[in-house]
Amino acid sequence: MHESLLSPQLVQAAYVVASVLFILALGGLSNVESAKRAVWYGIVGMVLAILATVLGPGIGGYPAIAGAMAVAAVIGAIVAMRVQMTSMPQLVAALHSFVGLAAVFIGLNAELEAQHVLAALAQGATPESFTGFAGKIAHKSAVELDIMKVEAFLGIYIGALTFTGSVVAFGKLAGKITGKPWKLPGGHFWNASLTVAALAMGGLYFADIGGIWPMVVNAVLAGIVGWHLVMGIGGADMPVVVSMLNSYSGWAAAAVGFTLGNDLLIITGALVGSSGAILSYIMCKAMNRSFISVILGGFGGDGTPAAEGPEGEMVPIDADSVAQLLQDADNIVIVPGYGMAVAQAQQSVASLVSRLRKQGKNVRFAIHPVAGRLPGHMNVLLAEARVPYDIVLEMDEINEDFPDTDVTMVIGANDIVNPAALEDPNSPIAGMPVLEVWKSSHVIVLKRGRGTGYAGIQNPLFFRENTRLFFGDARASIDELLKRID
Ligand code: NDP
Repeated sequence: MHESLLSPQLVQAAYVVASVLFILALGGLSNVESAKRAVWYGIVGMVLAILATVLGPGIGGYPAIAGAMAVAAVIGAIVAMRVQMTSMPQLVAALHSFVGLAAVFIGLNAELEAQHVLAALAQGATPESFTGFAGKIAHKSAVELDIMKVEAFLGIYIGALTFTGSVVAFGKLAGKITGKPWKLPGGHFWNASLTVAALAMGGLYFADIGGIWPMVVNAVLAGIVGWHLVMGIGGADMPVVVSMLNSYSGWAAAAVGFTLGNDLLIITGALVGSSGAILSYIMCKAMNRSFISVILGGFGGDGTPAAEGPEGEMVPIDADSVAQLLQDADNIVIVPGYGMAVAQAQQSVASLVSRLRKQGKNVRFAIHPVAGRLPGHMNVLLAEARVPYDIVLEMDEINEDFPDTDVTMVIGANDIVNPAALEDPNSPIAGMPVLEVWKSSHVIVLKRGRGTGYAGIQNPLFFRENTRLFFGDARASIDELLKRID
């Protein structure tokens, strides 16, 4: 047996502490003020979890583990330091793919190990002669071995689906794969058939036919389902997909935790799985999508491009006129979107808001649940620029106030203020609640040109009578206003 540095009791104690830290981390992340502390809970919990696992019983080969961890830590640190805030969703998607792939490898490895142990026991080896994971297998009853097969089957299926689904989500978010929904002719028939075929592989596996191969084929089939599911989902719905893949990766990890008999992995996987599912549900509600159809990958439009859009004139406005409108206004709402993040305009926006507030104006921010490219994207940027939390309002809290608003400034937002969502039943974003900015007296839209938003569709807001386009990079435009407003 490998000499372990920590006793099993100490490892279990560390696991309990790590679990509590993970729960505190998740709880704290729901509030901007406690989020920083929550991240530290997560970091400490993870360090504890890794150390307890590596130094615990049944683990050997420390140089190889240390080497792999050092290389991975360096790669992770470089990637994290270099990633732009706007590219965060694709990084998250890429990381989910690793969890999925790890679940597949662990599931296959567990099966190989089980076959090896059972063959040795059949030849007269005693259960006591095995250590670590092999020892756990050697002591399992026939029923427990069957349960382990269910866990391995699920871990491999969900893991492979998460892997390819996340790779496609990464490609779509990074703009390397078209954001338009794409399905094979027959659509969900393929997903259903491939899943039935994977279940048949599970049957062979339980009947001990074909050794490891049914599980390898199971992984390939699940991988095709994951690819096809996410390819079939349209660009504007990707936020929900990313959070769903997050949930899937959690369940894959939990299944692997059962296979390995690792309590912490079960707890962590369940936390990730359920919090991801709850976040997906909240986002579905925010976007007026059905949760079930999202799980089945059955949404995102029919692939036809959005209506070419209302033709009309975009009326430009210059900095002097915008400054005058703001000076004359009492109630001002600012709607930040992805373009504010691209322009890194949040500091300038915060300065402008602070000056307007000093003049006694009521200035508030309206945050749409899917503004930007990741949940909470705008809140993070505004917190970074030290905008007071109490003037940052969620969509539900402020949507009814637009008719009483003198000026709404839309800073690099597009899809989230598109009236077509409410007025055009054929729009790919039909039914998605949006910020009803057009009800305010004046709407100023800051954007660089005639580019569309993430959903790639035209926005009738830009042609409304009370809308003016303040063209230019959002940061440069706000800086122009700062020259005119003290
Ligand atoms: P959009 O992507 O709809 O629109 C962004 C707008 O910003 C465009 O009109 C663009 O126009 C403008 N823009 C880009 N760069 C600049 C710049 N430097 N200065 C000024 N304007 C700029 O953003 P929204 O926030 O309105 O909507 C978010 C979209 O992203 C939704 O469709 C959502 O579903 C999707 N999404 C959301 C995720 C989330 O979790 N929040 C994750 C993934 C996708 P122009 O090019 O003319 O400047």
